Amino acid sequence: MGTGGREHALAVALAHDSKVETLICAPGNPGMAACGELRDVDMGDPDAIAALAVEVEADLVVVGPEAPLVAGAADAVRAKGIACYGPSAKAAAIEGSKTFAKEIMAAAGVPTAKAHTCHTAAEAEAALDEFGPPYVVKDDALAAGKGVVVTSDRDEALAHAAACDTVVIEEFLDGPEVSLFVVTDGTTAVPLLPAQDFKRVGEDDAGPNTGGMGAYTPLPWAPDDLVDTIMTTVAEPTLAELAKRETPFVGTLYCGLALTSKGPKVIEFNCRFGDPEIQAVLALLDAPLSGLLDAAARGKLAEYPKPQWRDGAAVCVVLASEGYPEKPVTGKPITGADMPGVLHAGTALDADGQLVSSGGRVLNVVAPGATLNQARRRAYALAAGVELPDARIRRDIALAASEDRIVAPGA
Ligand code: AMP
Repeated sequence: MGTGGREHALAVALAHDSKVETLICAPGNPGMAACGELRDVDMGDPDAIAALAVEVEADLVVVGPEAPLVAGAADAVRAKGIACYGPSAKAAAIEGSKTFAKEIMAAAGVPTAKAHTCHTAAEAEAALDEFGPPYVVKDDALAAGKGVVVTSDRDEALAHAAACDTVVIEEFLDGPEVSLFVVTDGTTAVPLLPAQDFKRVGEDDAGPNTGGMGAYTPLPWAPDDLVDTIMTTVAEPTLAELAKRETPFVGTLYCGLALTSKGPKVIEFNCRFGDPEIQAVLALLDAPLSGLLDAAARGKLAEYPKPQWRDGAAVCVVLASEGYPEKPVTGKPITGADMPGVLHAGTALDADGQLVSSGGRVLNVVAPGATLNQARRRAYALAAGVELPDARIRRDIALAASEDRIVAPGA
């Protein structure tokens, strides 16, 4: 379920999986038409999603984005007796409400930034002044990765706070960021490869936050025990706390962390795979994806073999529309988007059957390589073969890591 680059990557992996007989992508995108049958569905309507799953006699439903999960899509599908990879609405609140996420972390003793939930301008001002700059101001509700402002400008911080109903203001966490996707059936938890994404629109992290402009995996600069540390200090206590509250989490617990001098601290949890990090991570997966997701959906992860990974690295670069994220210009003709390694996100077919841009993030190019450097070069070479007029492309995805310019604190 879904329409973006993340779902196209999942669809490619599932289409190549010999255990998958039939793949249906709903609503899908023009690129996903090469992976399976496209079916239209209202992603905002959990009952419609469940009805489609019944109609096509699905064995497993994999929900890509957060909004349907927060709205109860997984509950509706499971209520029909169909296995679903994705958390219940109650468990998805770990992403849907930053306040709930903070409450779970406090109860589970998970390290994260100190924070205040504010409802008025006076509360927001007091919180900003308590923490000092750089200021971190987050919309409490779902905002597709765009609800966060990090700025040293107090007026800008206050303006963002005023634009949100409820706002979470928190301490700035210093250190390189890591995304770790943890596949879980609620009890057993299996980490995928750690990745890093690039949230800001411009090179050197200039400009506003976006849904993500690129990603790479694994992290050559990270300490060897990074994944183990995150599992024991973050993922396992969080999942145990959710299970204790009788809202076990089934699906992907996305741990977004800052590697601070005091160890990994949670920036945010999400309730699904990260886009574009999963595009890079799946490029290195050397195991059938369907079995892993199915085992998680059915509570059988403890008996399932751990995923195997190819050596080397993978890089994903996003091709976004001119004007993204403020005012994406859409409707531009696209060519070259049917090459292997090109994933669709904001694309559509116009009345003449021509592929055109239809959203902010339009395409992803994904390439594996023996080294991060090679994967980078391949990804940018692939991007050069795609024509999207006036595309916004960050030229520095994985650059610092491939040149050993990122150093983990304490390393
Ligand atoms: P989020 O949607 O919570 O992931 O925030 C989006 C981006 O804002 C993160 O990927 C970080 O780059 C940045 N950010 C969020 N919270 C903090 C924080 N407490 N300290 C530093 N940067 C943050």
